[in-house]
Amino acid sequence: MTNAPFVVMKAVAKRWNGQLGVEDISLDIDEGSFVALLGPSGCGKSTSLRLLAGLEIPDEGQILIDGRDVTTSAASDRNLSMVFQSYALFPHLSVAENVIFGLKVRRVPRAERAKKMKRALQITGLEGLEHRKPGELSGGQRQRVALARAIVAGQRLCLMDEPLSNLDAKLRNSVRKDIKKLQRDLGITVIYVTHDQTEAMSMADKVVLMKDGRIQQVGTPDDLYNRPANTFVAEFVGAPP
Ligand code: ADP
Ligand code: MG
Repeated sequence: MTNAPFVVMKAVAKRWNGQLGVEDISLDIDEGSFVALLGPSGCGKSTSLRLLAGLEIPDEGQILIDGRDVTTSAASDRNLSMVFQSYALFPHLSVAENVIFGLKVRRVPRAERAKKMKRALQITGLEGLEHRKPGELSGGQRQRVALARAIVAGQRLCLMDEPLSNLDAKLRNSVRKDIKKLQRDLGITVIYVTHDQTEAMSMADKVVLMKDGRIQQVGTPDDLYNRPANTFVAEFVGAPP
């Protein structure tokens, strides 16, 4: 038996009133890999991610996650989590409560919640901060809470949309490393949206470079840099002419 890719997008299109969102997106993603969706603002990265999350319904094409059609499976059955640039934490809840919230939504039995929460805080380096409110944390710590929440229920796929863009340059570097380590240690699949080519090239196993709603090239960072498919790719990644 051949191993089907973990995530499959087949000729996916999404338009708004005839206006282009994304067009003809076909993509295979292996389980346990780190894939970056890269491209300039408005090229369709977030739309692609929202389609993968089942938050948008494609006009054309099909999306399978672990062999299941995203559009026909219930949200709670989609074994995935999302991390956004705005951390979307509840300001009135503590770190622990923010992380546990996702477990309640997923109907994880009460007895297991505290254990899973503690483990997630340990993995993300937040031990000792469980009683703080988001307002009492640094930007980097807040983003770690968002990461803890994303992994706490054992989701195998994590979708991240520009998760570092609210952090200053120094923090960005350290959280970038945290995310990579998390992905490797847990063996989860990450699909990571960014407009920052350095971020994509340094983190991803596979980069999907988009422009105007379409994929320009899919390849390793080395492929894009040394074998760009067209001049747009070459210019975007700053490859030698
Ligand atoms: P990116 O994340 O790469 O910056 P988006 O996926 O957000 O790009 O947007 C891709 C295109 O789809 C843009 O032209 C954007 O204006 C359009 N778009 C995205 N969401 C909507 C929406 N809800 N309604 C109308 N147009 C949208
Ligand atoms: Mg976006």
